[in-house]
This record gives sequence, C-alpha cells and structure tokens, in this order.
Amino acid sequence: MAFPESFIEELKERNDIVDVVGSYVPLTKKSGGSLFGLCPFHNEKTPSFSVNQGMQIYHCFGCGKGGGVVNFIMEIENLSYPDAVRFLAKRAGMEVPEDTYDPRRGRRERMLQLNREAARFFRAQLLAPTGAAGQAYVQKRGIVKMVNPFGLGYAPDSWQALTDAMTAKGYTHEELVDAGLSRVGKSGGLYDYFRNRLMFPVIDVRGNVIGFSGRILGDGEPKYLNSPDTLVYSKSRSLFALNLAKKSKSGYILLAEGNIDVVSLHQAGFDSAVASLGTSLTPDQARLMANYTTRVVIAYDADAAGQKAAQRAIGILQPLDLKINVVKIPGAKDPDEFIQANGPDKFRQLIERSGNQTEYRLEETAAQFDLKTDDGRLNYLRAAAKLIASLPGSVEREIYGMRAAEKANVSRDAFMLEVEKVRRQNTSAARKKREREAAAPLRSAQPADRSLRYQNVPSAVAEEGVLNLLCRFPEQFRNLPLGKEDFTSPALGGLFEAVYAQARAGSGFSVAALEQSFPPEQMALLTGILQRDEISAAAAEQAMGDYIKKIRAEKDKTAPGDDLRAYAEKLKRTKGYGS
Ligand SMILES: [Zn+2]
Repeated sequence: MAFPESFIEELKERNDIVDVVGSYVPLTKKSGGSLFGLCPFHNEKTPSFSVNQGMQIYHCFGCGKGGGVVNFIMEIENLSYPDAVRFLAKRAGMEVPEDTYDPRRGRRERMLQLNREAARFFRAQLLAPTGAAGQAYVQKRGIVKMVNPFGLGYAPDSWQALTDAMTAKGYTHEELVDAGLSRVGKSGGLYDYFRNRLMFPVIDVRGNVIGFSGRILGDGEPKYLNSPDTLVYSKSRSLFALNLAKKSKSGYILLAEGNIDVVSLHQAGFDSAVASLGTSLTPDQARLMANYTTRVVIAYDADAAGQKAAQRAIGILQPLDLKINVVKIPGAKDPDEFIQANGPDKFRQLIERSGNQTEYRLEETAAQFDLKTDDGRLNYLRAAAKLIASLPGSVEREIYGMRAAEKANVSRDAFMLEVEKVRRQNTSAARKKREREAAAPLRSAQPADRSLRYQNVPSAVAEEGVLNLLCRFPEQFRNLPLGKEDFTSPALGGLFEAVYAQARAGSGFSVAALEQSFPPEQMALLTGILQRDEISAAAAEQAMGDYIKKIRAEKDKTAPGDDLRAYAEKLKRTKGYGS
C-alpha cells in the first residue's frame, strides 16, 4: 500500500536533509553537529530551527514542528505524503514506482480523489462560458486573484452536471452520495447537491480537498451550503483556509466569520485568515489553530451576533494559553466592508491596536450597564473590579483599574479598594489553584500538539526516554522486556513499536521509514524527544533500565494489581462483560 522501503531509503540518501532544507532556509553550523536557521514555519528573529544531519531530522524549538526530509517538504510545499515523495524523487532525478502506491486503494483515498476531481470540474466550469454568473460574482467581490490559491470554482445551474462528469470518470453512485456531492432523488436517480453556486473547496493542512462550501449566486436558500460530514470531512474539526494560513509569516491567525470574508481578507493581504464553516468555533478547531500559532485575532462581524460569537470564541480559545485579540470594526458591518471603505492599511492598524483581551472585556462589560445612572456605574464597577482583580500583575491591575475608574467617573483609589476587596475574597481560591499547579510541575513536558497530550506524565517522561535511547542505540536494544502495551501514551507506544521493529531487524534507526506511517504531529513529537541531551553508549544501558523500572512502577501505581486485572480479564472473557 505504500512506497517500497528500498525506494524510500534511496530517496532519503539522494535528498540529504541539509541540502533540501538549506535550499529554503539559510543554515549556519553550530557545535554538536546541528545546524541552525530561522524557522520557515513561524515568525521569529532569533533562530530556533535546527537540522541534525546525522539523524536526518529537523526540529523547531519555537513552534514545535519537526520530522524528516519528507515531512519538511510536506510542510513547506503544502503537499500530501505521496506528493512530497514525488517532489523529492523529481528533485533527485529518480523514477517513482507509481503502481505500487495506488492512491485509489481504500475508501478514504478514493473519496479524496473524487473530491479532487470534483474541485477540478468546478474550477473548469468557472473558467468556461457556463460559469459567467460565477465570474461576475468573483469580479464584483474583487477576488479574481484568489481563484487560483483557493481553487475556487462554479457549480453549474444543473441537476446532473457534476454527477454525470464524475460517473463518466468511473465513480459509483454510492461513492458520490457518500462524498456528499450527489443526492438520491425521489425516482431513485442522483442529482447534484451543489447547483448555481460559487464553490469553495475546503482543503486540509496536508493539501487534501476534504469538502466544499457553496455560496448561492442570485436568489435562493440557503445562502451557504456546506458538505455534510463524511469519511474525510468533519466540520467541527476543520478550518477553512488553514492550509494557506499556516504558511503566513504574520505571527497570528485571523479568525473570520465565513469563507467569503476569508477570501476577501487574503485578497487584501491578510494571508492568515481562516473561518469555521457551518458551525461556531469548536474546541477541536481551537486546538487546530494552537498547533500553528500562539496568537489568534478574532475579526467577526460588528453586529451583536458577531460580538456574541466573539465572546464565545474567547471562552473556547482561553484554555489553550493563546494570546487572544478582538478587532473592533468601527463604522462597517464586517472586515471586508471596512477594508473596501478604508483600505488594508487601516485594517492592519486595527489588528495592531486590537485591544488585548482585558481591554476588550472591560469594554464589553461597560456596554452592559447604563453609566449615566448611579446604579449602572456601581454595577459596572463591581463587574470591572472582579475582572481586574483576576489579573496576575500589579502593574496591569493598576493600568486597567485606572481606565475602568475613569470610565465610571469615580476616583482611582476608591476603585482600587474595591479591586483589593475582591482579591482578598479570591485569595483562598487562588492559593488552591497555585497548589494544584505546583503538584503538576511537569506541565511543560506535554507535547506541543495537544491531541497527543499525556495522561500519565511521569510514565510518559520515562517512555520518551526509552524512545530516545532506542533511536540512538538501536543495536544495543534488540531485546527489551517492554511492549507497546506498557506505554501509557498511545502516540509514544506507536512510535516505540515501529522503532523497536527497526532495531530488531538490525537495520538501524531510519526516520524515512517512519514518515510513511505516522502523521506530522507525531513525527514532531519524536524529533522533539531526540533533541534531548545526548547520552553515551556506555551509560545508555543503565538509563534504559531506570526508565523501564519507572514505567513499571507507574503502571503498578495506577492499574489494579495483576491478580485483580487478570480476574477482570477472565470475567470479560467468560461472561462477555465489557465487550
Ligand atoms: Zn518554528
């Protein structure tokens, strides 16, 4: 199902990671065999991006990205794994054994292929005379230049056009319905789901077309029609245009309300704009953003609904330690209208000035009360004091306290007294929170990708140690009293299994073989682990023993005793419990 191992090994040998990365990023030599440069995946002024020639891996200490040479090409060229392999093969003048990698295998692959074909079809329609309505709309919105990067298209005003075209390419009715492109009519025949719409393909971060969103041209409902969730598309876990935004150098992700807003923002030069489609922001989408940025700027519509949605989004983004800004759009209903009227530079200023979260929340609080009445002012002060009392820094409290006092027209001292009162009430709660944090000193040991978070950190740290030693000294550890099932972290266990198989086969550690089987986030987790201080081969044996002991100890601590577990297993088998 994959490329043959020998081909992948040759590909790796003929594409040294230093040469390949070096053609994108100027690298300087540093001690210890690693090279350093400015990370191409996030905005930075001092290098935190490293390339290790010995292991043929790269890793960024800033944004946490990492992997082998194929991962690097996937990331920087925005390609799927097979396409990145083809890219590197071409670079090295190698022939790709195409027939051994059949992307049509598996329903998932097949659906992605169908989506890609459909996107091509819609695009061709937009450029053809039949697409006049689509072209006119694109012209009117001033987004002609965005047709290519977004792969925009046009679904003809027809019941059959796409269904016929895809059937002619060999896709079955079942496949078309499963992909959400066609529906079954009353007579049992198929009809096109998207008709007379400007089509926005939803493309994931690996470059796959996973779904579509269509905007009606002319009258008709609904205004936007989105693909249903399918085998390859989950609305709540995808963000429109993240495939483009992840390459932005702006240092933030701009969260807009809908796909047309996003396209207009990109057209105006804001290349980090994304949107959730057909759903309000979900925790999964927030985590997705957190993988690519540390700052999110919310640019929702200026109306009450938009501002309410912004408040909701803040609540979802907050637990992820992201810096959150909200753009207030004066005198326009949405970012696009503002940019049309005032130009992109003025909007850029709005982003730069976008009050931090505290300022924004203070304003929102003020808007809830009538500050012309004594009652209103008093209630505002109470609410504002509560907000300000929660700020960690005394300077911060001082600054915002001053602003809030000014707004309500009371003395700063009177207001700060109120803040202190709230703080005293909070002290006991705050102390408990500090204690909780102190009890978990290893929080920073968590993987950058939050979907890989460890359940048992002490054990996971030892598991990482095992993996690190195994990758460095595969010839020393061909017989370990340890299996995948001993790992509390499934991500680490999966990596262990693959690296251990390499060690047992005596082939040595090869990152190239892993890239084929593991997603980029998991590869980045591995390259992060391999940045640990190097350990001598002599000390490795002892260290490995210690790690295994730790894993066992943690297991005994958390799992029921072996007898009990065995008993439970037996129960399950004999009585069918839990199956
Ligand atoms: Zn980086």
